[in-house]
Amino acid sequence: MDFSYSPRLADLKECAVDLARKIMVYEDECEAGNGLGPESRAALRQIVLASGLQAMNAPVAWGGAGLTWVEQVTVEEELGALTNGLWAAVWRPTAAALLASTPEQRERYLLPENRGERFGARAITEPEAGSDPRRIATVAERTLDGYRITGEKWFVTLGDLADHLLVLAIVRPDGAPTLFLVDKDTPGVRLAATPRYTHNFAYEHPHFAFDDVHVGHDAVLGEVGAGLDLVQATFFEERVLVAAHAVGAAERALRLASDWARERVQGGQPIIRHQLIQAMLADSATDIAVNRMLVYRVAWEIDRGGDPKTLNAMVAMAKVSATEAAGRVVDRAVQIFGGRGYMRDNPVERLYRDTRVDRIWMGTSEVQRLMIANEIDKRGLSGLLRFSTAPAETNAGPGEENERPGAENEGPGNGQAPGTRGPLVEGAVR
Ligand SMILES: Cc1cc2nc3c(=O)[nH]c(=O)nc-3n(C[C@H](O)[C@H](O)[C@H](O)COP(=O)(O)OP(=O)(O)OC[C@H]3O[C@@H](n4cnc5c(N)ncnc54)[C@H](O)[C@@H]3O)c2cc1C
Repeated sequence: MDFSYSPRLADLKECAVDLARKIMVYEDECEAGNGLGPESRAALRQIVLASGLQAMNAPVAWGGAGLTWVEQVTVEEELGALTNGLWAAVWRPTAAALLASTPEQRERYLLPENRGERFGARAITEPEAGSDPRRIATVAERTLDGYRITGEKWFVTLGDLADHLLVLAIVRPDGAPTLFLVDKDTPGVRLAATPRYTHNFAYEHPHFAFDDVHVGHDAVLGEVGAGLDLVQATFFEERVLVAAHAVGAAERALRLASDWARERVQGGQPIIRHQLIQAMLADSATDIAVNRMLVYRVAWEIDRGGDPKTLNAMVAMAKVSATEAAGRVVDRAVQIFGGRGYMRDNPVERLYRDTRVDRIWMGTSEVQRLMIANEIDKRGLSGLLRFSTAPAETNAGPGEENERPGAENEGPGNGQAPGTRGPLVEGAVR
């Protein structure tokens, strides 16, 4: 066992720290304006391209950084320190697009997306279908030359930035949940609302309506009926990232709070000498250390391969644990700052609002617990608790076949997007 960063990981971490530092400059603008103006968006795009960390989950041959999971987590925890969801400025394609694009779709959507020229957003959730996407009411009626999509989608993150949407709809009359690539300028796609949320995010989460939207057969991502599996593959990937962000967010909050506790004098001494403040600092440091270990371990297990269902439950453990820990740490940081912790120009206040959604999106904490309990019920505890003694499996490369379990809240095939499993390509990260 070796817990030190390899030279490659240390370089990557430095690169991510540098990138986060450059993006951090935009936090105040984002908070004040609930988003970024076109000039700032364009400048950020250049900053990300210069870092070489765009599309880090995609193969180098497809214009991505080709990072393993441990490498992605190393980067993402640094980005997690950013407030206002600015980590989203470091774009990456969805696992669904990576796994299932045809060569034509790859040329049209995925490669431009990897270059930061096009953006996609996921349109899965509906008013009556959140935790249980099987309940969606959006339908895609078969027509002579394709499909006619009708329905409503809520909370579409990056929906303002995106030029195309990944829309989950039930193909009729087959009754098959299917993902469609829908250009936003297709007639019938309508922006229904742009609600305000607790956080002031870098981008919007609008609702969209689809009124008789005609798409061709070439709009189907993967196969008809494969929609839920692809959605789960995407959730799997996003949950790892959310967990990594949570660790980074918590560490930034604790660093700021401990600096303040050293500086702030009340009761005749710096508040860091007061034992009740010490307890909060100690609990927070422990929360972060424990969850960093868990997130890296899970990433390492995914890189090694293994039972997809067990990996899925491990990812759920990391998500629920890291996001709930971040909630505790950030809450304590606000408390340590006192009134100053409640002011919006303080990053801990923004992290307090920003991190709340991590317990809701990509599967709520309750849903993650159901997945963990399901693993315990079906396969027992060993896969979750014990370190592996088996040799690593050989990872499949891009384009190879993935197992696709279809059960609700089960894992994405082998739990890996293709770009993350090949050997590292030298120079992948500039
Ligand atoms: C800011 C934001 C951005 C989002 N971005 C996107 C996006 O880009 N694309 C997209 O498609 N969706 C997006 N979502 C939607 C998000 O994934 C859903 O909000 C989430 O899955 C929960 O669904 P719901 O809100 O309908 O809550 P519900 O599913 O109605 O759940 C309500 C409560 O019931 C609990 N619950 C539900 N089922 C069970 C159960 N079986 N057992 C125990 N408890 C249960 C939940 O845990 C929760 O506490 C976003 C949401 C937000 C807030």
